[in-house]
Amino acid sequence: MNVVTVSKRGARRWAAGHPWIYRSDVEHEPDGAAPGPVTIHDRHDNYLGRALYSPHSEIRLRLLTRDDEPVDRAWWAARVGESLARRGSIAATAYRVVHAEADGLPSLIVDRYGSYLSAQLLSAGLESCRDDVVAALADVLEPSGILLRNDAPIRRHEKLELSVELAVGDVPDEVEVEEYGVRYRVDLRAGQKTGAYLDQRENRALAGSFAGGRVLDVFTYQGSFALHMARGADAVIAIDQSAEALAQGRANAELNGLANIEWVEANAFDALRKLERDGERFAVIVLDPPAFARTKDRVESALAGYKELNLRALKLLAPGGRLLTFSCSYHVQRELFMDMLADAARDSGRRVTVERLLSQPADHPEIITIPESGYLKGAVLKVL
Ligand code: SAH
Repeated sequence: MNVVTVSKRGARRWAAGHPWIYRSDVEHEPDGAAPGPVTIHDRHDNYLGRALYSPHSEIRLRLLTRDDEPVDRAWWAARVGESLARRGSIAATAYRVVHAEADGLPSLIVDRYGSYLSAQLLSAGLESCRDDVVAALADVLEPSGILLRNDAPIRRHEKLELSVELAVGDVPDEVEVEEYGVRYRVDLRAGQKTGAYLDQRENRALAGSFAGGRVLDVFTYQGSFALHMARGADAVIAIDQSAEALAQGRANAELNGLANIEWVEANAFDALRKLERDGERFAVIVLDPPAFARTKDRVESALAGYKELNLRALKLLAPGGRLLTFSCSYHVQRELFMDMLADAARDSGRRVTVERLLSQPADHPEIITIPESGYLKGAVLKVL
């Protein structure tokens, strides 16, 4: 196995609980070494562990283990087994089995949809372990099929190709899953992320528990919050700019025998303005926009967008109404998000209480020393 030597600062980073070592903290790497598992030494030649090596990435090394052990199919299988065991029981047939660094399996995402797996290999180091990883997933999880959704643009930073490939067995065009009694169909090949937004599962169930009267789901995608709320509400309006997503939402509503959802294809900003002009009022509003700030330099403009949405939504709430509002931009951290909400509340002229803070579910663990593992933040705001 190739040996890579890291600086004192790099070694300190590992000791402090973060699995990444950047290019600037690599003191020596063999010329032309291939991506894959390597042995790590400190500058005094002490053994530090094994890591995935990505020769073209700013994130050069991702810690696998501190022990002197082979990283083979059995190693991956053991780690996947531990990750699965941490999940405990989940009231859904779709959930995340492996949340990358946060589960000690850097750059590996594995989501289970019924008896199928949709996985992403997001670094060059991991890609070179593909056969062992896939075999380990098949051994431990015994799926009917494994699809590799390796079309995430982040792979480009690793000089990897983008592709969607069937790795094991067979995967149908649509997989039906169930989440707290709501059924929905997922297209694993073409759906967002690995097929669906599993990270909002618990928050969708919460929204369902609040539903009553007229409710609004903005950025509905395939209707996921709307479906949960439709079971308790008189009427639901679900908004998205994607006609395709809404068509799937309609099919999902039918699958659940729900006929009280109105599907509106529109830009969310325009649609909220129109609802305000029409004098509409809602008992519950969900705002689940896409990440407005994918990079640090977009934070300011993202906050302006989030503020406009939240301000409009607060104005649309009936007295006693609730806003469930989210940001999945890693760079918009909790404090900025809460400041933005305070700003929107001030401008709305309404008295707003923070009823609850929301985050990722337990199958998307957030490790406190790995800030990048946490990205989803939200709140339940209630107007008086
Ligand atoms: N709430 C969903 C996930 C939403 S993802 C769930 O829990 O599954 C974000 C969605 O916002 C996507 O479906 C995308 O089509 C939609 N979208 C992005 N920008 C938009 C805009 N300006 N107006 C309306 N919809 C938008």
